[in-house]
Amino acid sequence: MIKFTLTVLGASIAITAAVSTLFGFAGSSIVGTFWGWFWVTLLIQFVGFVIVNSILVQRDNIAFQQVELEALDRLSKFTIKLSCSYCQQSNITPIQLNQRNTFKCESCNQVNGVSMQFMATTLTTPIEGVKIPTGNSEMVEFKVS
Ligand SMILES: [Zn+2]
Repeated sequence: MIKFTLTVLGASIAITAAVSTLFGFAGSSIVGTFWGWFWVTLLIQFVGFVIVNSILVQRDNIAFQQVELEALDRLSKFTIKLSCSYCQQSNITPIQLNQRNTFKCESCNQVNGVSMQFMATTLTTPIEGVKIPTGNSEMVEFKVS
């Protein structure tokens, strides 16, 4: 992988230098010196690479944010089973926490609203280990980690 990167880097430098040399010869035959054209062409190419690279990075970031948003959207959807308030038929419906939810009953075609209620509960103390006596006077220990 490092070898590959070095090859690409070497090739990039070689191409950049070749292009600069070409412009150096071509430019200096019209006006100015070879090195003047060489360095200006090199600088222009370098600036061009930086701009292209930052555009590519930005595009990657936007694509990544899009994927994250879609994942978040999928996570906020739940599927629950609810009884129709008109005919008591069970329906399976997707609900989202961040919006008002309704569903149409499969049986009677009535539109139901979904009301969500949240409750706070006390937490029971977690079991760290339980000893269960067995027939032959030994204890079998269960550990919950
Ligand atoms: Zn119904």
